[in-house]
Amino acid sequence: MEALDHYPHRGSTLQVDIAGIAVGGGAPIAVQSMTNTDTADIAATVRQVRELAEAGSELVRITVNSDEAAAAVAPIRDALHTAGCTVPLIGDFHYNGHKLLADHPECATALAKYRINPGNVGRGSKRDPQFATLIEFACRYDKPVRIGVNWGSLDQELLARLMDANNQLPEPQSSPAVMREALVRSCVDSTVRAIELGLPANRIVLSAKVSGVQDLISVYRELARRTRQPLHLGLTEAGMGSKGIVASSAALAILLQEGIGDTIRISLTPEPEGDRRREVYVAQELLQTMRLRSFAPLVTACPGCGRTTSTFFQTLAQSIQEHLRRRMPEWRRSHVGVEELSVAVMGCVVNGPGESKHANIGISLPGTGERPVAPVYEDGAKTVTLKGEHIAEEFQQLVEQYVARRYPKRGANTPT
Ligand code: SF4
Repeated sequence: MEALDHYPHRGSTLQVDIAGIAVGGGAPIAVQSMTNTDTADIAATVRQVRELAEAGSELVRITVNSDEAAAAVAPIRDALHTAGCTVPLIGDFHYNGHKLLADHPECATALAKYRINPGNVGRGSKRDPQFATLIEFACRYDKPVRIGVNWGSLDQELLARLMDANNQLPEPQSSPAVMREALVRSCVDSTVRAIELGLPANRIVLSAKVSGVQDLISVYRELARRTRQPLHLGLTEAGMGSKGIVASSAALAILLQEGIGDTIRISLTPEPEGDRRREVYVAQELLQTMRLRSFAPLVTACPGCGRTTSTFFQTLAQSIQEHLRRRMPEWRRSHVGVEELSVAVMGCVVNGPGESKHANIGISLPGTGERPVAPVYEDGAKTVTLKGEHIAEEFQQLVEQYVARRYPKRGANTPT
């Protein structure tokens, strides 16, 4: 699949280097995720970071909320490196970050970036000095920071000041409009302050997360207009399942289409025992369906209808998607360009052959009343017809052979 060559990037002009991952300034939009393990549980956190990184998360954030969590960060980083996982770790600090960084220098060193929330670095007279301490640590350890403002923890003093000023206007704005302005102002003012404190402008990423789609779009448009920093996009508290995916995709797609956003996270509320990697897959699929990046082969599958009464093709589409996902980490290491593979799994003769011909490799399954045969198409031409009990396994084999034949072997010096 071709990348969009007219991608209208008009976001950040600055580029931030996060332990080798370029963010902003026209670099590819990076996928982020966040663990939900207790960071003090080293084994569980290492396991989840590895899973997220293997799934394709290019930056992983971990909570650093206590002495125990801060003490675990360097061992987590070491265990990841030993396992060959070099994904940058971002420390998420709230309330006590200034103290944790002071008391745990090995944590300050091991992290690739600090996330600071200006709304809760400290109250009253403590806020400015504690914010300054966090920035001084970022300067001392050469770390970028994300100034991450959040609707739910907005700086209440700033908001009160803006509300008061608004009330004095002959034609005051609505309260939501003032809140949106407070979010943007918190980001902008904190950036100015961090730069005054000595942090280079190209070490600051910004975010201003809210939970409403229209609010998010409006806040980020304004942030992109008023700042040069790379922007991290995410709809906070997006929710569970399809609601979270739809709301995040609706908001982020509009901004990305306008060239706004340099890293993204899909903040899905996990279902009990759910797979944390889902947020990575959704972020990748959003970027890939918009043709902004390619991560993994995409499966085109029809929705099914009355012409296909069995669930066979649904099962096949799902098993192919899972097979591709399972094989992708290995393929990515061994074959150049395999993430652009497209696979079609279609339910009957109406659209099956046509859609299959458009994919690199596709299969058109028999609908109700059709002959029980499944033609396979490769690069637009029919190559073989499958039949019998083992169509799924045989098709997976054909996909394997196609990858081996079509995508060149990666040499030792080929960049991944
Ligand atoms: S390809 Fe066939 S089975 Fe699938 S939706 Fe279209 S008509 Fe229905």
